[in-house]
Amino acid sequence: MSKPSIASINTVKSPDISREKSSALYETAKGYFPGGVNSPVRAFKSVFGSPLFIEKGDGCFVWDADGNKFIDFCCSWGPLILGHNNPVVKEHVLKAIDNGMSFGAPTALENDLASLILSNNKKIEKIRFVSSGTEAVMSAIRLARGYTKRDKILKFDGCYHGHVDSLLVKAGSGLVTFGETSSAGVPQSFAEETVVIPLNDKDAVRAAFEQFKDQIAAIIIEGIPANNGLLIQDKDFVHFLRDITKENGSLLIFDEVITGFRLGFEGAAAYYDVNPDIITYGKIIGGGMPVGAYGASAEIMGNISPEGSVYQAGTLSGNPVAMSAGIGQLSQLLKPGFYEELLSKTAGFVSDIQEFADQRGYAFKIFTIGSLFWFAFTDKDIKTAAAIDASSMQYFKVFHRELLNRGIYIGPSGYEVGFVSAAHSQAELESAKKAIFDSLDIVFLKDHA
Ligand SMILES: *Cc1c(COP(=O)(O)O)cnc(C)c1O
Repeated sequence: MSKPSIASINTVKSPDISREKSSALYETAKGYFPGGVNSPVRAFKSVFGSPLFIEKGDGCFVWDADGNKFIDFCCSWGPLILGHNNPVVKEHVLKAIDNGMSFGAPTALENDLASLILSNNKKIEKIRFVSSGTEAVMSAIRLARGYTKRDKILKFDGCYHGHVDSLLVKAGSGLVTFGETSSAGVPQSFAEETVVIPLNDKDAVRAAFEQFKDQIAAIIIEGIPANNGLLIQDKDFVHFLRDITKENGSLLIFDEVITGFRLGFEGAAAYYDVNPDIITYGKIIGGGMPVGAYGASAEIMGNISPEGSVYQAGTLSGNPVAMSAGIGQLSQLLKPGFYEELLSKTAGFVSDIQEFADQRGYAFKIFTIGSLFWFAFTDKDIKTAAAIDASSMQYFKVFHRELLNRGIYIGPSGYEVGFVSAAHSQAELESAKKAIFDSLDIVFLKDHA
């Protein structure tokens, strides 16, 4: 069905929630931080209004500075798989803090978190903790280059890997391209070490290996690309990447900063039944504290300093408070049935919304896997960045405003995915659904056309 014009939608919008205090805080913040924020998407640039300043969270709820309460599907962009203020995670943090904040020396907590992960994840043998997903990816890239003694990295258009210089690169035109920097401050010579190709395109991968024979250190791909829509790749394509990297002496890096511990304890690697050479983690691993990690076989990890010659370090790496939060969170994910329950809850939620939209004939599709979902104003199947229609984002913008006005908080961009946590109860999902139905009716102008 054709979509109504934005001007006509705006004549039927619902009354806005009060944003007085958030707006005042944002004005102040603009004097302190570039764009008023410490990470760009938070600035609400692609939706209506200015950012909501969050005061507290509990379970699946957050409250903003004006006292508005929301059911939260952003969940800090993924880390909070158990919801906000999980009592066990909190207890672990408080217990660790009693002993001090940081030592810059090894602690038993690092062993405990590593043991919890390695004994339940057969995809890696050794791990190194860092402080963010970006740092994990940056280190994995260096490791791949050091190990293979090659420089070029092959990445996919539509995958985000943090703000690593050589990966802040977008596709140029043509099937296989040298990257073009997508950020000022990244030298073109760095971008030239990155080859960018479309997702879900075997020919492009083959062409890249022909064109840059014996130069490609690694292919990096998100476990499930989930930072530019949710671009679920076929199992066959992922296995093809495993095979072609092996044949060419290149490594396969799975960036599981979102999907690690999310699709299951062993992440997308287990979901696809594939064995990547290096895997990066972040988000969930730290229970809401700043932790990232990368892991690989003992042989590959043996190249990391001080065992090997690839340097990587961190003053706050393996921070005891953060390790303890990670232990508190990951140990709960290992309880039998944890993922099954989260998955079936999400599947029910998503399919009810899809059914509603289909019955009304709305051009709206939810892409979903595990407890991830992506609301897209389309009726097409989307597997590549190029297949996303940028003009559909104006409908997301209205949808976002209507959801906020009905007490639903999702990431402020139509390219971002949403997260269901274990703290979202059936009753809360029911009320979220109702708000989503009403918001869709506004976007598609039901009864107003
Ligand atoms: C979030 C994310 C990153 C970056 O992690 P930060 O902790 O924000 O630095 C890298 N890769 C993927 C796939 C991510 O989702």
